[in-house]
Amino acid sequence: MLIGVLALQGAFIEHERTLARLGVATREVRQRKHLDGLDGLIIPGGESTTIGKLLDILEMTEPVRALGRAGLPIWGTCAGMILLASDVGRPQTVLGLLDIVVRRNAFGAQLDSFETALPVPALGPDPFRAVFIRAPLIERLGPGVTPLATLEDGTIVAAERDNILATSFHPELTGDPRFHEYFLAKVAAARATAPEREALPRP
Ligand code: GLN
Repeated sequence: MLIGVLALQGAFIEHERTLARLGVATREVRQRKHLDGLDGLIIPGGESTTIGKLLDILEMTEPVRALGRAGLPIWGTCAGMILLASDVGRPQTVLGLLDIVVRRNAFGAQLDSFETALPVPALGPDPFRAVFIRAPLIERLGPGVTPLATLEDGTIVAAERDNILATSFHPELTGDPRFHEYFLAKVAAARATAPEREALPRP
């Protein structure tokens, strides 16, 4: 299993370290050719406008979009979630792989960054220590998109549909590998449907 971590800007090293601890091989994705042969891709936190611009400049926006549409498991954390969204309410490059409306920097100056014990039923009974850093929130879920975690006030902060997973917060910063394991289970399931994978477009 080989997981690509988009390494154009932001918190990619922390994802690599978490995956290494789980014994999973990773590749830093900095160019189009690095997309070849991946079993999954993580888009890290950072600055979504910058990452989007770099994807465009490096001519990677369309190849990543095509891989996601063809079923490659892709997980976006924080800025990565913004990039996966279909609507961010302002003009910037997004992949549109998950039908969600996202609001950037949604928690305001007072709550700029915070941590909370977040119930995530899909990960089991223990809450997940979720670190939010100038985080986006999900304002609306499209049809077929499943919420995975909500704050006490009902704000949705994690969601998925099929091969696409998005979290507002940073599971790579806390040492709890459960979200990475959850994503890897998606990757394993996608690998099990090998004939479809053969049809993935080559970047
Ligand atoms: N505020 C950033 C953005 O809008 C996301 C912050 C993060 O990834 N920690 O892109």
